[in-house]
Amino acid sequence: MIMITIPLSKLQSAAKVKAQGYYDACIAAGTVFGENLQLTEEAFAALRAQFATPSLAAQAQSAVAAVAAECDAVLSGETAIDDATRAARIAACETCTFFIVSDRRCQKCGCWMEIKTHFRTAICPEGKW
Ligand code: SF4
Repeated sequence: MIMITIPLSKLQSAAKVKAQGYYDACIAAGTVFGENLQLTEEAFAALRAQFATPSLAAQAQSAVAAVAAECDAVLSGETAIDDATRAARIAACETCTFFIVSDRRCQKCGCWMEIKTHFRTAICPEGKW
């Protein structure tokens, strides 16, 4: 079993561009010794996979589908998202472990939530809204 040692300061820096749950998940997956986290190579690989954003191709496909669905909703006269609903969506994201605070994106779908939460037909990939 190969062990990896990561300085906590480096982990904290990396966590700034990851979903909110990344740092805690890393800590839970390993053991802290002083200023370092030690975990197995397998655990680290699993965390990297768990907290990876979708590929650029998948994000592009998702964005095109979301815009197309929104256009259909507008053309069919579906009412716009009201402020309270949008605020509730944002609030759910802001407390979600998959929310990337630094650029306000969802790690699961890769979408920018300041935009996606306006879309009538948008859904949370985790069913939170
Ligand atoms: S869309 Fe869903 S999974 Fe993504 S950050 Fe928001 S609440 Fe979390």
